[in-house]
Amino acid sequence: MRTVLVTGSSSGIGLSIAKSFASDAFVIMHGLKNDDCSLEAVSSVRALGSDDVHYIAEDISTIEGCQRLVKAAEQSSGRTIDVLVNNAGIQHTAAIENFPPDQWQNILNTNLSAAFWLSQAVIGGMKTRGFGRIINIASVHGLVASVHKAAYVAAKHGLVGLSKVIALETAQQNITSNTICPGWVRTPMVEKQIQERVNAEGVSSQVAQSELLSEKQPSGQFVDPSSIAALVKFLCTDDAAQITGSALTIDGGWTAV
Ligand code: NAD
Repeated sequence: MRTVLVTGSSSGIGLSIAKSFASDAFVIMHGLKNDDCSLEAVSSVRALGSDDVHYIAEDISTIEGCQRLVKAAEQSSGRTIDVLVNNAGIQHTAAIENFPPDQWQNILNTNLSAAFWLSQAVIGGMKTRGFGRIINIASVHGLVASVHKAAYVAAKHGLVGLSKVIALETAQQNITSNTICPGWVRTPMVEKQIQERVNAEGVSSQVAQSELLSEKQPSGQFVDPSSIAALVKFLCTDDAAQITGSALTIDGGWTAV
């Protein structure tokens, strides 16, 4: 049975990914200490048929937090990590001249450096075992930009680059490293952006949501978190063994424009 660590799996996309591994892996779920949805999230994964689900609360915006997370994950599963899904991420929107420096640093740490620190901590075990999958949940913003998202776009572009370097350095060891680049997915992170638009424009939530989609996502539909989870699962199969260093879009056509 593989050991899978999914960062930021107390809600949204990460929770869907954790659920998709519930029946066939030892799943380490993760989030922040004060995530009030974490108990419910763990129960929802256990309800899918596995007792091999653990939850670790750790702030991964520091190298020490990342190292503690991997240590705790390995202790609870009794083995090294086979699949690392770097999913945890945060957003802050502001024009560049008003962008708060602490938000810049926090987003860089959480969305980019954590993936580096966690990958560093797990690659040795993957090499020893001769198998590994590192899957980074980036964003279309790893490939293209939008206004007011300086830190997020910089971090996600960096994540695509980091993933490619890891792919090259591990190419002959049955380890793959890829990024998934979703467009809009309706999760708590996007709910916040819909609400910001409601507040700024005085429009209804429905109008804000349609505007959000029509500006960027040609399909006019949100990506379902379970579709991202299915792609993650595919990347863990033998059929995907030669997919490495890729940035895979799942964005309703956003980046085709
Ligand atoms: P979400 O807000 O529902 O979940 C974010 C998760 O990250 C939570 O579990 C939270 O606890 C965790 N997290 C945040 N900061 C952390 C920290 N310092 N330490 C530990 N955990 C931390 O968000 P989501 O929409 O599911 O996003 C998941 C990933 O997908 C993010 O990397 C995001 O950038 C990316 N993404 C989301 C969308 C979208 O439209 N929702 C689109 C493209 C990419």
